[in-house]
This record gives sequence, structure tokens and C-alpha cells, in this order.
Amino acid sequence: MRKTLVVGNWKMNQSLSDITNFFNSVKESGFSDEAWIAPQALHLSKLIEVAPKNFKTGAQNCSYENTGAFTGEISPSSLKELGCEFVIIGHSERRAIFKETHDELNLKVKKALESHLKVIFCIGETLEERESGKIEAVLGEQLKKGLEGVNSSDVIIAYEPVWAIGTGVTATPAQAQETHEFVRSFLAKETALNAEATLILYGGSVKPDNAKELFSCADIDGGLVGGASLKAESFMGLYGK
Ligand code: PEP
Repeated sequence: MRKTLVVGNWKMNQSLSDITNFFNSVKESGFSDEAWIAPQALHLSKLIEVAPKNFKTGAQNCSYENTGAFTGEISPSSLKELGCEFVIIGHSERRAIFKETHDELNLKVKKALESHLKVIFCIGETLEERESGKIEAVLGEQLKKGLEGVNSSDVIIAYEPVWAIGTGVTATPAQAQETHEFVRSFLAKETALNAEATLILYGGSVKPDNAKELFSCADIDGGLVGGASLKAESFMGLYGK
């Protein structure tokens, strides 16, 4: 039986006072479900300091090395030392804007796991790829190359169709379930992961009013959520609270 997990990806948003307000509201409401948040790297310590115990803190990216001459990079072992529990790797914004390659992402996944961080590995197709019938080829390549040589129960997959991220357009539950089912069968056949036990999150304009229906699909184990995770009321709304 897989649990349902909601992970907030705050991207490059939230001021220090936004963070204080978010957790004040959470504490006042008595919300006690397990929740994961990835703030911008500069705010990781702040979250670790102020978030209640049911919140796990993680990073949005990390380096494929732990130490050395890599100016501006984020060391996985330092994330762990700080108290982070997970890292998001391969978000479509990292792939598209920062041109992260399959090989680089594979190295990052391995280094993060070596540093005892859980990894949320993101995959997703563009609208053009979907419309030209390439969904399975694109996702298959991202999974095969990104997870090559990886055999760990600390990997979570996030399927995020690029056309649904930050656009207000959500995949229908049927579209999302169909793709999640494909991803799970691909994990079983083509990777070393335990497909039945691996959490597969959906991401792309998840909101309080569509979360329940999406998360109740057989192969959807929760969500990676951007916009709707920024305000405490909306974040807790993703849990139906
Ligand atoms: C994301 O950042 O991974 C994401 C899914 O964003 P949004 O929920 O805003 O579409």
C-alpha cells in the first residue's frame, strides 16, 4: 500500500515574511499531515528552523558533486548536513532553462542518493511531443537515462506534463492515470526500481478543487505542486482540509 504525498515546490518565490505567515497559519490550524516543501535554497535553513515536525524540507536542485571548485552550486552532502531530507532533480524548468542533460541528471540522482537524500525525479513531455504521439518515447528516455544504474527505495517519480505546469491547464484524471500506468509499467520492465512500491506523483496545475480526484486514481500517489502550495490555506486545501 503506497502512501499519498503532497510536495510543494515554491520555485523562486516566497519572502522570509511569507514563510513566517505560511507556518503561523499552518500552526494555528492544527494541520498535522505529513507534508514536504522545497523552498528556494537560500531559505532552507529558515524552513528547517520554523516548520513544524510534520513538514520535511528539501531542495529544488543539487550538484552532482559534494565538494570542489563548482562556484554557485549546491552540495548534496551539505543539504543533508543542514537537515534537508529530499531534493527535486530534473524539474522541467531545470531541463528547459538550464539545459540539464540526461547524463548530468543521472549523476545528480546518484550523488543525492549517496548523500542519503530522497530524490524526486521529474519527467514530462511538451505539448508538441504529446500531440505528435511521442509521450512514451520521451518519458521512457528520461526514465531510462536518468535512472540508469539506480536501484533505491528513496526515489520518487514526479510526472509533470510540461504543458500543464503553471498554465492553469491540468491533465484530466484519465489522461494522468493513463500516463502514470505507463510509467509504472516502464519502471518495472526497464529500470531496477521496485515499481509497485515507488511513489509516482502528478504535477501540473494541481489545486484544492482537483487534487482529490487526481490523487484517488490507482497509479497517482499524490502531487508535486507549485502555485497552489504558496499559501497555507490553499496548501492545506490540497489535503481536503
Ligand atoms: C511545479 O512547479 O512542479 C508545478 C507543477 O507547478 P504548478 O502546480 O504551478 O503547475
